[in-house]
Amino acid sequence: MKIAILSRNRKLYSTRKLIEAAERRGHTVSVIDVLRCYMNIVPHTPEIHYKGRHLEGFDAVIPRIGASVTFYGTAVVRQFEMMGVYTMNESVAITRSRDKLRALQLLARKGIGMPATGFAHAPDDTSDLIDLVGGAPLVVKLTEGTQGVGVVLCETGKAAESVIDAFRGLDAYFLVQEFIEEANGADIRCFVIGGKVVASMLRQAKPGEFRSNLHRGGSAHPVKITPEERSTAVRAAKILGLNVAGVDILRSRHGPVVMEVNSSPGLEGIEAATGVEVADLIIQFVEKNAKPGRTATRGG
Ligand code: ADP
Repeated sequence: MKIAILSRNRKLYSTRKLIEAAERRGHTVSVIDVLRCYMNIVPHTPEIHYKGRHLEGFDAVIPRIGASVTFYGTAVVRQFEMMGVYTMNESVAITRSRDKLRALQLLARKGIGMPATGFAHAPDDTSDLIDLVGGAPLVVKLTEGTQGVGVVLCETGKAAESVIDAFRGLDAYFLVQEFIEEANGADIRCFVIGGKVVASMLRQAKPGEFRSNLHRGGSAHPVKITPEERSTAVRAAKILGLNVAGVDILRSRHGPVVMEVNSSPGLEGIEAATGVEVADLIIQFVEKNAKPGRTATRGG
C-alpha cells in the first residue's frame, strides 16, 4: 500500500514508529506536513498539491494532527476523503474530539460516565456555576490547554471563584469539573484500535501533584483494566467515531469516568510502559480497513 502519514515532523517518535512499522510490513510511506498542502475546492476534481506535486495514488492516510493545527489539518484530511482516500480517523471524528465541549456533550448524551462538568465563558454568577457542579474542591480547565497547562485544582469555593474570575478576564472558554480525589493523582490511558483496547497504562502524578501528565513528571506503568473500564473506553471512541484513540479515564467512586478522548494519541509513553507494539497494530488495522471511498464524509 501507499500510505500518507500527516505529520509536521518525521523525527517525532510516533511518526518514526509508524514509518518503521509500515515499511517493515512492505508499504511505501510519505510523510506530509499539512501546513504545506494546498488544495482546490471544486465540485468534481478535488486535488491536494504539495511542494509543487499533485498528491495522488494513496491507499490510506494516517492523520497525526497536532492540536495547534486542527483547523487546517482537518481540512486536509477532509480533502483526502473527498478524493475517496481512506483515512484512519475521519476529519469529522477528529473535529469532534478536539472540541472538548462537543466531545463531552456527545459522551454525556450516550451515558458515558464523566466528572460532573460545567462550562462557561463569561458567567455573571460565579458561585452559581460552582454550585452547578457540586462545589469545591474542583478543577478549572482552560479548554485550549494541553499537557496539563491551564488545569487548576481549587480546594475551596473562594479559590475557585478567584480562578474563574481570572479566566473570565482572559476571554477564554473553560470547564469547571468535580475533582475526583479518590483517583489519587492517577489516570488510565486506554489505547483503542478498531473497537479494542490494545494497551493500557496507569499514569501516576509525582507526589504533591494531582496532574498525572508525563510532561509534568508523572510516571507510567502497565495496568490491568476492569471490563467496565474496557467497555467505557471502547464506547467513548466509538461515540466520537474514532478508529484509533487514546481514552483517558479516572477511577472514581462511581466507576470509570472519561476525561478526554485523544484522536492523535502519542505512542512513546504507551509503548514504553506496556511493551505493546502499538504502531504495528495501527498499520495492521489500516491494512485490513483501507478500501477506496470507505469514508462517510467523501464527496458523492
Ligand atoms: P490536558 O488535556 O492538558 O492533559 P487534562 O484535563 O487531561 O488536561 O488534565 C491533566 C491531568 O489532571 C489529568 O491527566 C489528571 O491526572 C488530572 N485531572 C484532570 N481533571 C481531573 C479531575 N476532574 N479530577 C481529578 N484529576 C483530574
